Amino acid sequence: MIPLSRATVTPEMKQAMLDVVDSGRFILGPETQAFEKEFAAYIGTRHAIAVSQGTAAIQLSLQAIGIEPGGEVLVPAMTAFPTIEGVIHAGATPVFVDNDRFGAMDPADAARRITRRTVGMVPVHLYGGAADLGALRALAARHNIWIVEDCCQAHGARWGDRTVGSIGRAGCFSFYPSKNLTVFGDGGMVTTDEPEIDRKVRLLRDHGRSDKYTHVAVGYNLRFNDVQAAVGRRQLALLESFVARRREIASRYDSAFSKIPRVAVPIERAGTRMVYHLYPVRLADQATRDALQGHLKARGVETGIHYPIANHLQPAMADRGAPPSLPESESLAKTSLSLPMFPGLSDRDADTVVAEVARFFQA
Ligand SMILES: *Cc1c(COP(=O)(O)O)cnc(C)c1O
Repeated sequence: MIPLSRATVTPEMKQAMLDVVDSGRFILGPETQAFEKEFAAYIGTRHAIAVSQGTAAIQLSLQAIGIEPGGEVLVPAMTAFPTIEGVIHAGATPVFVDNDRFGAMDPADAARRITRRTVGMVPVHLYGGAADLGALRALAARHNIWIVEDCCQAHGARWGDRTVGSIGRAGCFSFYPSKNLTVFGDGGMVTTDEPEIDRKVRLLRDHGRSDKYTHVAVGYNLRFNDVQAAVGRRQLALLESFVARRREIASRYDSAFSKIPRVAVPIERAGTRMVYHLYPVRLADQATRDALQGHLKARGVETGIHYPIANHLQPAMADRGAPPSLPESESLAKTSLSLPMFPGLSDRDADTVVAEVARFFQA
């Protein structure tokens, strides 16, 4: 079976985990602190705060900014459901926005959904491609609302010469084992230039304590641990090589699929660097997509759908009133299929994937 995704594991990463076990420093210790410093330097922000997962990064960023009751936050309908959970757990009301042809939040649709209650937006750099930050920043400035970036799929993606996660008031990252930078469990990070967000996220992630037994806020236990930090540091050192390999595979797929007109490939936005967390192709309709997925599965190629249900149509959202009509997101849910994409994917396996897609359309 050619997997959809697989984390890179090196002997150094395994040894680093064992070294932490021997050190006896398990939670928010020296490895976590070093990982935070190195991650901030890589993204280009003054601060980085390690937390338990990407969902916690979103929740705590928004809580650090502060959400008034009734505050509305624009979110893309097409994203991983945790984006929405983070926004809701922070006390905000999500307002769903349709996506543009790159799969990211559509600035024109976002503009239509702004009300007097809108306080911010959480664009997602979906699939590893930067959202349209030029237009979204202009919109945010016009309405005096903030931007928090969901970078959970986009470690190292760039918008112009800036790395995503350094552009909004905060950037939120996940290190779940399918992401572009993984640990061997759960993990997340908040990046920010603002000392006050840094202070509040640090406080909230660890029971609101200012010292061991003084609690100045009612916080949470959303901490990160040193066994994972030790892995994350070694992954970060390899991240640019991971990005290069993902881009190499994407360009191999792009040129092969240019000969199969019924397969539309993901597009890199001009002036950005896409890091291809996923390689989702678009098919003509749902029947073709589902049949292609079945064919590939039978031929030993694992694929995925990101995502089969747009978030405004999720059952968990049913008690929030009639969902809006978001045709682009609804169409993406029916017609997109993610092909194997990870740094360890060989050219040979990538070519097998292409050959099987070609065979499906010849039949
Ligand atoms: C994975 C992901 C999350 C959540 O990250 P966890 O670490 O699983 O909590 C949030 N948003 C997006 C876009 C993701 O892909």
